[in-house]
Amino acid sequence: MTEKFDQLETNNRELLELIGEDPQREGLVKTPNRVARSWEFFSQGYHANLGDIINDAIFHEDCSEMVVVRDIEFFSMCEHHMIPFFGRAHVGYLPNQKVIGLSKIPRIVDMFARRLQLQERLTSQIANTLEEVLDPVGVAVVMEGRHLCMQMRGVEKQNSFASTSAMLGQFRKSAETRSESLSIIRK
Ligand code: ZN
Repeated sequence: MTEKFDQLETNNRELLELIGEDPQREGLVKTPNRVARSWEFFSQGYHANLGDIINDAIFHEDCSEMVVVRDIEFFSMCEHHMIPFFGRAHVGYLPNQKVIGLSKIPRIVDMFARRLQLQERLTSQIANTLEEVLDPVGVAVVMEGRHLCMQMRGVEKQNSFASTSAMLGQFRKSAETRSESLSIIRK
């Protein structure tokens, strides 16, 4: 294990003590290690490489119809509380002679979700990345998330969703294109 990982484990053990727990009791002995592993996973996105993810899965195609991938599950960590927020992402774009392998879109979502995030930023990072790699006519990303930092602390109603969107290109310019994409997303 790396020095960083050891340090993370030590910090978790200290956290247990600070909240009034006994890190030596049976159920907790391995907890600092498990939490450190979990955080390695939750922060994978910091080390992810866009080129590796896309792996040349961009194809020239004479398609100009809207492409929509709905209901992509995402899990992320709120940067203000380091508590999960999660939900669904819906991603659409209008191609401009280039399409991306459909399975790559959820992987782009994961790349940005596996870091400390704000849902607003996560939404626009996904949209900006698709714009960058596809140079499309337009991109639309809508995300609906439940934030445990709000729900567990009783700040908001238990069933509230935060909804965010990022509209680029034609989706920003044309109300008609935007409403077409939103109606596909909400089907
Ligand atoms: Zn929060």
